[in-house]
This record gives sequence, structure tokens and C-alpha cells, in this order.
Amino acid sequence: MPLVNLKELLDDAYKRKYAVGAFNVVNLDFLEAIVKAAEIKNSPVILNIAEVHFPFVTLENIVPSIKAVSERARVPMALNLDHGLSFEAIVRAIRNGFTSIMFDGSTLNYEENIEKTSEVVKLCHAANISVEAELGAVGGEEGGGLEGDADPSLFTDPGKAAHFVKSTQIDALAVAIGNSHGKYKGVPNLDFTRLEQIKEATGIPLVLHGGSGISTSDFRKAIGLGISKINFFTGMSQAALETTTSAIAATGQKYNDYPLLLTKVKESITNVVMEQMDIFLSTDKA
Ligand code: 13P
Ligand code: ZN
Repeated sequence: MPLVNLKELLDDAYKRKYAVGAFNVVNLDFLEAIVKAAEIKNSPVILNIAEVHFPFVTLENIVPSIKAVSERARVPMALNLDHGLSFEAIVRAIRNGFTSIMFDGSTLNYEENIEKTSEVVKLCHAANISVEAELGAVGGEEGGGLEGDADPSLFTDPGKAAHFVKSTQIDALAVAIGNSHGKYKGVPNLDFTRLEQIKEATGIPLVLHGGSGISTSDFRKAIGLGISKINFFTGMSQAALETTTSAIAATGQKYNDYPLLLTKVKESITNVVMEQMDIFLSTDKA
């Protein structure tokens, strides 16, 4: 089926209390591995392409493949610009047919974040594209490069959340409640009281970034408190690297074993994504 927009997926998830996984695509192998998992699990899925990954994946080459894969798939999928930072990246994603844009104004002050986010919403909604925005700042570095810490002074302020959502008219809100990109330094310590206050203040689907490393029970609790989209990348990247390392270390490799290595890497990504879909309760929700 054709790509759907994010709002369509998240409104159902919010109502039926599950979360749709947003998995980052950095090449064709990731795309095929993620979609295979979604088909096996009969789960809706969000394909994320992050602006920081633009140097590794050419949108103009991969988006036609994503559309072709979606057309053949039995499950609904959305294509989301992950952490859109620049105007250029947002326009490029829109031109290429993304059905959702995340504008990341987390480094801006509150007024500027509202102003820029509202501009993106005006542009995107006119083209039936959903918008996710961030209030506060998720810890760590997008792309999972560093072991990041969540800074409590940058957590989402529930008092501002209602005003932010009303002023910008966004479709989904990314929250900072102790979640962090990349590997967690210690055990994640999510502020569920704050999450509940944000849910009550906003009434729209909420997004949890930094999914890798969060426990099943914390995910389930968060889903019960309005988290309808969970972003996940580092866990897939780690599985791909570990599979590559062990396959290379295995004895008896031949010069023509490379395609086999890629197949193993894809299988490892599929396994990680399938596991997450069960945890997110999106299995059989397509
Ligand atoms: P992780 O890499 O920590 O799973 O976070 C992914 C993410 O938030 C992408 O936007
Ligand atoms: Zn993120």
C-alpha cells in the first residue's frame, strides 16, 4: 500500500495503547531487514531517515525503493525525517515524498522553537505531511555516537507542553524524560510522573527517542502513559556490527563470502526489530 502519514499510524496506536517503532534506515539492507520484520510481525512501522545520516544514504536513491517496498507490503508504513534540523533537509525530504517530518528545535529557546516549528507545520500540513516536534532536549547525540546522559534541566516542562502543542498544532510531541540517544551510561531512569503530566496536558501522541537500552517494563509503562512512537537505532547498529565481527572472525571464509555476510547482518537486524515490535505491543496491529 502507499506510504501513510504519521498521524494516521499514531492516532490508532494512541487509542489502542501500543507504540509504533520508528527504525532508522541507513542503507537498503536496513530497509529490507526492518520491513521483513514488520511483515512477519504484521506490525505497522515507521521508517526513519535522520538528517545526520544524509552523508551515508542518498535520499534520491533510497526513497524510490522505500515507495516500491511499501506498495508491495501488507503492512502500513510511514517515512519520517528524523531530527530535521535545517530548512534545506526538510524541503529535500518533502520533495522526495516523506509522509512525516520531525523538526528538532531542541537547541532553540522556547519562543524560537514555537516559531520555527509553526512554520514547518504550516508547510507540511498543506501537503498532508505530519509533524513531530521536540520540547526540552533528549540526552546524548542522535546517531548513537556517544554515551550520553539525560540532563534533568532539559526535561520537557509539562506546564509549557500544552501551550507548545496548541501554538504549533503539531501531530506528535517528542518528550525528554530521562531518555537518551546511544548507549545509556547506567540504567535509564525515566520520569513517569512527568510523562503522565505531559499526557494530561497535551492529549496528543507522544514520542520516546533513545529507545535502545530501555527495559520492557519501562516501555510498557510509557506506552500506558501516551507514548505511541518509539525511536530505535543503536540496538540495530550494534547487532549489525557484532554480526559482522563474528562472521569475519569465523574460520574458513572464502573470497566470495561477502553476500553471505550481508545476509547474516540483515537477519540480525530483522531479529532485533521483531523483538522490539513484540515489546512495543505493535505485533498484529497492522
Ligand atoms: P537510539 O539510537 O538510542 O535507539 O535512539 C534512536 C533515536 O532516537 C532516533 O531518533
Ligand atoms: Zn532521536
